[in-house]
This record gives sequence, structure tokens and C-alpha cells, in this order.
Amino acid sequence: MASFYDDNEDLRWYVRTGIDWEPLVRLTEYDWKAEDGFRAVDEAREFYEQILDAVGAFAATDIAPRWSELDRQHPRLAEGEVVEGQAAREVTAGLVELGLPSLCLPRELGGTNAPLLLWHLTTELIARADVSICAHLGFHGGMAMAALMYSVMEGSTEFQHEPPRITGTRFQDCIEEIAAGRAWGSMDLTEPAAGSDLGAITTRARPQPDGSWLLTGQKIFITSGHGRWHFVIARSEEGPGLEALSMFLVPAWDWDEAGGKIWRARFVGVEEKLGHNASATVTIAFEDTPGQLIGKRGEGFKSMLLLMNNARVAVGFESLGLAEAAWRAARAYAAQRPSMGRTIDRHEMVAEILEGMQTEIQGIRALAMQAAWHEELAQKMRLALAHFPLSDSARAELEAQQKEHARKSRAFTPLLKWIASEAAVEISRQAVQVHGGAGYIRETGVEKLLRDAMVFPIYEGTSQIQALMAMKDTLLAAVRDPAAFARRAARARLAAASARDPLRRQAALLRVRANQAIQHLLSRLLVGKVDELRHHAIASWAEQMRSWDPKRDFGLAMLHAERLTGLLADAAVAGVLLKQVEKDPSRRDVLVRWVERALPRSRYRLDQITTTGPRLLARLGEGA
Ligand SMILES: Cc1cc2nc3c(=O)[nH]c(=O)nc-3n(C[C@H](O)[C@H](O)[C@H](O)COP(=O)(O)OP(=O)(O)OC[C@H]3O[C@@H](n4cnc5c(N)ncnc54)[C@H](O)[C@@H]3O)c2cc1C
Repeated sequence: MASFYDDNEDLRWYVRTGIDWEPLVRLTEYDWKAEDGFRAVDEAREFYEQILDAVGAFAATDIAPRWSELDRQHPRLAEGEVVEGQAAREVTAGLVELGLPSLCLPRELGGTNAPLLLWHLTTELIARADVSICAHLGFHGGMAMAALMYSVMEGSTEFQHEPPRITGTRFQDCIEEIAAGRAWGSMDLTEPAAGSDLGAITTRARPQPDGSWLLTGQKIFITSGHGRWHFVIARSEEGPGLEALSMFLVPAWDWDEAGGKIWRARFVGVEEKLGHNASATVTIAFEDTPGQLIGKRGEGFKSMLLLMNNARVAVGFESLGLAEAAWRAARAYAAQRPSMGRTIDRHEMVAEILEGMQTEIQGIRALAMQAAWHEELAQKMRLALAHFPLSDSARAELEAQQKEHARKSRAFTPLLKWIASEAAVEISRQAVQVHGGAGYIRETGVEKLLRDAMVFPIYEGTSQIQALMAMKDTLLAAVRDPAAFARRAARARLAAASARDPLRRQAALLRVRANQAIQHLLSRLLVGKVDELRHHAIASWAEQMRSWDPKRDFGLAMLHAERLTGLLADAAVAGVLLKQVEKDPSRRDVLVRWVERALPRSRYRLDQITTTGPRLLARLGEGA
């Protein structure tokens, strides 16, 4: 039987060799003490592989062949309810039947207790078949896991230690409904005047004397926003900015005793879109709608980042699934399409496009696996620190590990979201190109991939927002600890100059170029800052040097944020691949292809960063 897992050698390599499952499984199985849990990594891994086989087969045989129905049967609004297309309903029911909404929930809450990384792998398989189905499914299991995580973090989950198990959790009704496949959730942030700029959110939340809250406002572009459970960010405090926002769990309806719906919110519309058509994108209005506060007042943005981090990693895997579909379609077409005496895959330019597509996918998959691994370990270690009885020394060690995983996840996640979503657009465009005229025709299905891909660089934080995050974190880390930055830079220079393996030298050169870009941007930033001191009294210079105004001081860095992100992402991928080569020399070929593509573009990006910018910034300054 066809399976999107079975036919994917690169993915199988990760599951069998590349992923270090041990810490993930150990933490997921409560340090091997979970009731009915796995007692050995290989046992667990075999089970995970069976799940991937089943999902891969379902994706290949029950979803992918229905791409046209999924693309054309748009969800619509009828009498206040959103009606999904028939194919979408049937396919989603099949995925629920497979048990996916509860895949990562603990066994004691009706779940399969699999690591989150397995969820991400299923995401790639399903996205290869249809990305909008994959996105809708994400709002099932993903939201149930988020509800549990929030409850654990705010201390409203009860945990028994012998044997370890959860005995009760605040959002149990929401989690159980989703786990059983009877409901799903959504993430309601965007408003007509607040997209990237979440500080502009106007939806209000008012506290009631009994401790409940009432929400009023409108949210737009909400994926799967026609479900019952809404994680809503609203303004609960006076004053501007992100500190005035809180997160609420809001049911769009409650059930009456006869099983009828008592509406608490109103679905106002469903968008017609370029692609992503099996997924409903909904406008929802809250009018004195009751909600429960999640966590503390004013910490909504912080809570949302947890959801967002997972969601951004998930977009990385969605992008990979779609890119894999595009590459395979292009490869199959090129192998049988004759032109000028050869099939087109034998023509140099097409051969290079095809190899480039594969290389990008393999490189980005390496980064995706690392980002997901670090993010999950950081989260689960945080939970273990909060709930496991630990000796002082074990706690100190776990704390240090948690910090390091969180740091790496924070560094990798925006790079992954940026590079994967941009690559998916480019790879699907190339698939259209390789198909020639047939690619532009609906019947072939590749133009759908391009339409679907174009949302990746927009949702869950646009590419520009990812780049700003990566740039700010990178530059601020260097400003805060210049000595550590200088040490890292010297190590990279040394490896680029003298490592015995030429491949190691090339990978190090990518890091050197990223560091040169950082150094250039920092030196410009400091020159500007020092120059500005002329306008201030000497007594305030120390204070001036400590305070940074991102809008004023980071102009050049903001302008070049995407280029810097590209440099950082290329170097990060090479670093991950180099580690793989150390473990398994068969991965050398992927790294060879990656550095061959990344080195010239890193030179180009560095050149742009060091030679352009002041003219445009001066023009912007004049307009200010
Ligand atoms: C299919 C789809 C599904 C979606 N699902 C959800 C969902 O489930 N939940 C939800 O809350 N939202 C959802 N969204 C909304 C999405 O998250 C926003 O569209 C996105 O965050 C961008 O916001 P915006 O549309 O207001 O664009 P804007 O913020 O107005 O941005 C417009 C352009 O300006 C750029 N830009 C903005 N600010 C800056 C800056 N400071 N520096 C540089 N460039 C900048 C952006 O990168 C972008 O290119 C969805 C959108 C779509 C299309």
C-alpha cells in the first residue's frame, strides 16, 4: 500500500537513526514510571513508527487523491453555522478515527502519550497530502495539549506521584471533548487593525464580581474559528501595549440539557481565499461573551508565545510536507516529459532545479527536527521541574539543561519558520515551472501547491516578524556578552581556516559570514549611538548607552533582518548537518549539497548587508 512515510527515506532516517528519542520518551513516560508506559526507547520507537505508517498510508490513499475536492469545496456560512465541504468532513473524520487528536495527550486523559515530535512528523505526512486539512487537524490535538499545558503552568492540574499520573485538570471538559474528536479549538489573535502589531488589539475583557470575564470584540482570519473552544487574547488592563493583554478560554456555545446550542459568540463570515481551501478562515464576534482567564492578568502575550512557538515549529513541518509534494511531482513529471531528444530531467537547468529542491527540503528538515526536539525538551523539563520530586543536585542539573534547550529552541524557531515557509513558496513555484504549461493548468494540481504555500510566510507571524525576532535576539546577545560573542567568532574563524575536513571548513565559513554581518550591524549601531552622545550631557552618557530604542537605534539592522536571518539559518542548518555526519557518514552528501548552495548566497547576503542601506534609511528619515 502507498505510504508517505514508507517512501520517504530521509524521514525514516530521522525516526530510526537521527532523532535522539531517549530524553523525549523518558520525560513523556514520567521518567519511565508511567503506568502502562514504555520501559525502553526501542519499544516506543517501534510503536511510533507503526503510527507513522498508518498516518502515511492514510495521507497517501485517503487524502492526497481527494486534493481537487478539498480545494474546490469551500467552507461556507449557513444560518450562523460554518458548513465544511464534504471531502474535508470525511477526511477529518478519518483522522479522528485514527486517534490523532489525542496522540500526545497523557494516557490518563484518554490520549496515546506520544511525544510532540511524533505529532510534528505526522504533520509533515498530512501536509504532503493537503495542507489545509493538516492545519485544521492541528487545531484539534494542538489545542488540547495547549489547554493542558496552561493548566499545568498556572498550577490548576493535580498530579499524583506514585505512580505518576494526572488526576485532574482545570480545562478537562475542553480537553476531553477535543481528545474524543467531538470538538476543536482555535487561536484568536488577529483583528482588523491588529495583525503583526498585537499591541493594537482592542477586544476587551471585563472582570465580573464572581471572578468570570465578559469579552467584547471581533477577531478575523481565525483558522478553524468555527469550533467551540477559543483561546482569545483580549485587553484586560488599562493602558497601551502587550502588558495589558490576557488570555481567555472562551466557548463559542454551551450545550443545553436537550443537547441544543446556546450561542455565546457569533460567526460573522468565512473568507474566500487564494488557497488553503479545506480550512475555514472565520470572523467571529464576541458580545459580552463569557470566558475564563488563563494564567495571570497581563500575561496573555507570554502565554500566547508558548502556543505560537509550537505553532511556528508546526508551520516548519507543514512547509516541508508541501515542499516534498512539490518536489516529487516535479521529479516524476520531469522523468517522463521529453524535450529535444531527452527527458527534461536530463537537461542541466532542470536537473539543477530538482536537486536544489531536494537539498533545501533535506537541510530544512534537519533544522526542523532540532527545533522541535529542543522545544519539546524545554517544555517538558519545565513541567518536570514544577511537578517531579527532585533532589537539589538533580534539580540544579535539570534547570541548567532546561535553560539550554529553551535557548536553542528560541534561536532555531524563527529561523525555521522563516526559511521553511519561504522555501515552500519557492519550491512550489519551481514545481510549476518544471511542469511548464501543464503546471499552470488546474488539472495537474501543482498550481494548488503554490497557492497553498503562499500562506506560510504570513500566518503564525510573518517572515518579516520572524526575521525581526531572530535579529533582535542575536544582536542583543552579542551586546550583552561581547566577550562570549568574540570567543564564538574566533572559534568559527579558526575552524574555517584550519579544520582538516574541507567540508567542516565550508560549514564554518557560513558561521563566519553570519558573524561578520552581526559585527557590521553592531559596529554601525554603536557608531550611531556614540555620535548621538554629542547631543547629551556627559553625566547621562552611561544611561544613554544602556538604553536602546529599537525604532531609532536598530534601523540598519531592521532593514537587513531578513538577510541576517538567511545567513543565520544557512549556518544553523550546516551546523546540524555536520553533527549528523559525525554520527553517520552517509549524511555527508546532504551537507555537501547544502554548503554548495549556501556559500554563494551567504556571500551575496553579506555583501548586501555591508554595502547597502544608508541611502534608504536617510530617505525614510527625511520622511519622518
Ligand atoms: C489563511 C490564514 C489563516 C490565519 N489564521 C489565523 C489564526 O488562526 N489566528 C489568528 O489570530 N490569525 C490568523 N491569521 C492572521 C495572520 O496571523 C495575520 O494575517 C498575520 O499575522 C499578519 O497580520 P496582518 O494581516 O494584519 O498584516 P500586517 O501586520 O498589516 O502586515 C502587512 C505586511 O507588513 C509587514 N510588517 C508589519 N509590521 C512590520 C514591521 N514592524 N517590520 C517589518 N515588516 C512589518 C508584514 O510582515 C507584512 O508583510 C491567518 C491569516 C491567514 C491568511
